[in-house]
Amino acid sequence: MDRLFGTNGVRGVVNDTMNAQLALDVGRAIGTYMKGKVALATDCRTSADMLRAAMAAGLTSVGCQVLDLGMLPTPALQYFVKPGGISGGVMITASHNPPEFNGIKAIDADGTEMPRAKEEEIERIFYTRAFDSKDWRYVGGVQQTSGAGDSYQRAVLSQVDVVEVRRAKLKVVLDCANGAGSLISPQVLQRLGARTITLNCNPEGTFPGHPSEPTQDNLGDLLSLVRETGADLGIAQDGDADRTIFVDEKGNYVYGDRSLAVVAAVMVVENEGGTVVTPVSTSQCVEDAVISAGGEVIYTRVGAPIVARKMMEVGAVFGGEENGGLIFPRHQYCRDAAMSMAKMLEIVALEGPLSSLLAKVPSYCLDKRKVHCPDERKEAVLQAVCEAFSSNQVDRTDGVKVFFEGGWTLIRPSGTEPIFRVYTEGRDQETAKRIADRCERAVKEILDG
Ligand code: MG
Repeated sequence: MDRLFGTNGVRGVVNDTMNAQLALDVGRAIGTYMKGKVALATDCRTSADMLRAAMAAGLTSVGCQVLDLGMLPTPALQYFVKPGGISGGVMITASHNPPEFNGIKAIDADGTEMPRAKEEEIERIFYTRAFDSKDWRYVGGVQQTSGAGDSYQRAVLSQVDVVEVRRAKLKVVLDCANGAGSLISPQVLQRLGARTITLNCNPEGTFPGHPSEPTQDNLGDLLSLVRETGADLGIAQDGDADRTIFVDEKGNYVYGDRSLAVVAAVMVVENEGGTVVTPVSTSQCVEDAVISAGGEVIYTRVGAPIVARKMMEVGAVFGGEENGGLIFPRHQYCRDAAMSMAKMLEIVALEGPLSSLLAKVPSYCLDKRKVHCPDERKEAVLQAVCEAFSSNQVDRTDGVKVFFEGGWTLIRPSGTEPIFRVYTEGRDQETAKRIADRCERAVKEILDG
């Protein structure tokens, strides 16, 4: 069976690989699977209305009642779905992809992203066209539903000490990348008493400010504005506002693994211990910070839904990914940019400038490479890598992670290309390079036979 849902839902270029017909049919498949009431929201891409209408037509044709929440961040839709009483949600978004893309993400009845097994069932319905099309008497309707954004904002604020944050009167520069966060995050900051300077906080589907992936290259304006205004913090969100990247008060871009480490340590201290869940690809600095705060780390395969499900299973106090996707379980089991932002304001208000908190987090050096490998040989090569490094500590949670003195290498097969991604982390650049060279050589020798 072909695969419809990738790691981030169904994605494609508008009116090419992502068109109204596809949205209609995916809607019929999701609706056949979910049945009942389904919440629907979009980010602010130019194709949002087109795909929303097609998705709603698909859902109603199989008898679903659609609650149309309008334009919202992905975590706001997830928060709306979470309390129960509805069968699930559909988010029209391509997250951080360029503006010509759009996508469809299915949300489970508990507000988390669909586990793979349920996506496979929707794919089966889609590919076999086993749509439960209804007789004219039983097609569903669309109900415009307001208030989801407000209750989401209140929920975020209920998770932090608003009085203490207001007292600190922080000056913040917020960059929403012209995305869906523009509708929520400025108001959250206002309610937290922050003096806010907004940048790209008008929703605009062409993303005129900068591409919506919050990389250092895309955030030049934010970095200089933090410096020029003497702000306490800079905040950047991706297009659908589930991921957040921070800028410290000196105008330095903070890599997502380092902000993850800062927040993870605070969450462990607040809970007087506990478990933090993160993928095997995450920097050692997170585990270092968690252990010195008195907690422990559990590693998973790469993917936010996998992290979220593991957090539920083990009762984790916090979890997240190194790309700025932070998950606060008391709030909800999904990545949430507004929640991450509010928590970071609270941390800075209570514990001082972000740069001094970051100074306590150990630094490691990264080396990223690709090694070509035909898809059909990937599993055998990984097995042989394990054997080649049998005297080292090896972790097979996702691909192969091999530990060395002073660092580790993770060799992961790409799901879309005939390559291995080889990530290495070392205590310094020289160690990282030496370990990466050794692993790259081992993979190539195995491939050559
Ligand atoms: Mg996103």
